[in-house]
Amino acid sequence: MLIEEGYIQLENYFLDGTKIEANANRYTFVWKKNVDRYKTNLQTKIQDLLDEIDEVEKEEMNLYQGNDLEELGENRQVSTKQLDETISYLEQRLEKEPENKSLKKAVKKIRSDYLPRLERYEDQQSVFQGRNSFSKTDHDATFMRTKDDHYQNGQLKPCYNLQVGTENQFIVGYSVHQRPGDTKCMSPHLDQLNSNLGKLPKSIIADAGYGSEENYAYLETNARKAYVKFNTFHREQSKKWKNDISKVENWSYDEQKDEFICANNRRLTFQYETTEETETGYEITKRNYKCSDCDGCPLREQCTKSATGRTVSISPKLLAYKQQARDLLWGEEGRKLSIQRSVEIESVFGHLKENRAFRRFLLRGLPKVSVEVGLLSLAHNLIKKAAVCVRQSLDKSMDKTFPLSA
Ligand code: SF4
Repeated sequence: MLIEEGYIQLENYFLDGTKIEANANRYTFVWKKNVDRYKTNLQTKIQDLLDEIDEVEKEEMNLYQGNDLEELGENRQVSTKQLDETISYLEQRLEKEPENKSLKKAVKKIRSDYLPRLERYEDQQSVFQGRNSFSKTDHDATFMRTKDDHYQNGQLKPCYNLQVGTENQFIVGYSVHQRPGDTKCMSPHLDQLNSNLGKLPKSIIADAGYGSEENYAYLETNARKAYVKFNTFHREQSKKWKNDISKVENWSYDEQKDEFICANNRRLTFQYETTEETETGYEITKRNYKCSDCDGCPLREQCTKSATGRTVSISPKLLAYKQQARDLLWGEEGRKLSIQRSVEIESVFGHLKENRAFRRFLLRGLPKVSVEVGLLSLAHNLIKKAAVCVRQSLDKSMDKTFPLSA
């Protein structure tokens, strides 16, 4: 409706993210590292106990045929399914030898303590889904650092990362994410926007949190203009940066020979190429260069700590994307959009978080909090539309009362 009535044109899309606290207990966190460690320790304990039973059986009865317990001994990574089968096997043996006290004690320990704990750790591991933490009272919430840290102690809170895109201060798209960083939220957010609207806005304007090679490549593939800063965009304007002889950006590049020329006029030659794959399968290719002659260089202390000489690892694609971003952002349109960005998206966040006190979700779980954001966005857009309508009718009546020619 907003598009049809001309309130938004899908020209410039201002994207930013903010963390909203989940409706979850602040102290009931579960950390992946701890769960992994506890599980490994428990598995070792279980295996030690099974090995012990095995040994006793072998020594005392010499009847052991060697099946389940021996198999578990191979990898020491016993699962709940394997453990359950093993207990059943041990319980059958116990029925035959009810006097075997040590076996009885072991079976009781595994059944009442080890098995439930192992089940709990396995359940928790299935909840993480690539995250480092979750809240016990809202499994979809992840512990994140927020800007409104009143006690200034860096305390992590259970949150969702809300991504919002605006145009003319109307909310055009939103998505809720479970990861704290904005970088990896851009392509899923824009995919969702595309499937909702059937197309993407012409230009995407975002801060340095989104300036990754993968995001630039995504926008290039979708033929969108990327007014997206990268992490060193502002820093590289400083005198300190420009005078830093260790920065590759301050060196020159010999395209014909594919060599970098350092501050001491020596050449860094190509050595080898490496390829990394991101979570989504995007491949980042890096070319590695090495200076053949750093010995006796008077700038060495400022340039490198390496004993074997200076090396650099460069992604040519990222260098090219960064240059494109510089050209766009320092252009007339780019400067205008950068100024507009702070007014656009920050004022929407201001209305949502300050004026409407949306600082914490009321509901739990990703599907429900997404609905909550949807309702708030709808309310925001209706209020905004009403305000624009009132302003327009006031302007009209003012024009009638005080015609410009008067
Ligand atoms: S340390 Fe090596 S790479 Fe760095 S300025 Fe000196 S010669 Fe060049």
